[in-house]
Amino acid sequence: MNVFIVHAHPEPNSFTSAMKDAAVADFTAAGHEVVVSDLYAMNWNPIASAADFGTRGNPEYLNYALEQRANADADTLAPDIEAELVKLQAADLVIFSFPLYWFSVPAIMKGWIDRVLVSGRIYGGRRIYDRGGMAGKRALLALTCGGRDYMMAPDGIHGDIQQILKPVLQGTFGYIGMTVLPPFVGYHIPYLSPEVRSDILGQYRQYLHGLDALEPLVMPSLAHFDPQMKPLSV
Ligand code: FAD
Repeated sequence: MNVFIVHAHPEPNSFTSAMKDAAVADFTAAGHEVVVSDLYAMNWNPIASAADFGTRGNPEYLNYALEQRANADADTLAPDIEAELVKLQAADLVIFSFPLYWFSVPAIMKGWIDRVLVSGRIYGGRRIYDRGGMAGKRALLALTCGGRDYMMAPDGIHGDIQQILKPVLQGTFGYIGMTVLPPFVGYHIPYLSPEVRSDILGQYRQYLHGLDALEPLVMPSLAHFDPQMKPLSV
């Protein structure tokens, strides 16, 4: 299979980067093709702007989503966006590798989402969820954080980690049609002993080894909604 890892950590020797390196090593050893976009190393530009478009439907007023659609059709998106789209569209499994920043992905990764998941090519109109443009591909979030597991449990102070990550799990990968796997979370990473961190790295490798057995998260189906997206039961 083709594995595409989008990695966002500013320190190549970080624990999060070690997780990314382990994934690359293990998938490669198992005979899979692995491509990595290391966003800080690439100096990825996270800013959505008019510079993303080679042509403009309306040069007077920037409607970003409309210009995405027009430029995707005309193959006039900025080259850095096109390069990421090629990797994304070739992938069977996409892994987002990142430290949790403010209950979310680092800004550089959010900018990757904003610029690369192009309206018209990846999703649009009713091409969402089970009819999304990326249907058939799997997505996995592999993240680290400072908080403890019990703090991000349903009854914990921050609430359930899957609710914290909902904007990415559902609002991004589920929305564009991907099969979303349960996230792997390395909790409390900076405060652990090296030995416990090594154990977590081992757990991550096991998790990747057993991906095929994981039950994907449940996402909405358009079959349950009318053309105005109202629930059919209402
Ligand atoms: P690092 O600090 O890079 O690594 C920890 C230690 O592991 C280092 O000593 C490193 O040398 C060592 N290490 C490296 N490789 C290995 C290896 N192979 N085996 C064993 N040890 C190794 N946390 C939350 O819980 N919620 C938040 O909302 C949140 N928001 C944040 C916002 C910002 C802006 C920042 C900067 C941090 C935030 N954090 C938050 C904390 C952050 O998520 C954690 O600090 C981060 O996930 C820790 O992972 P790391 O890879 O950066 O660890």
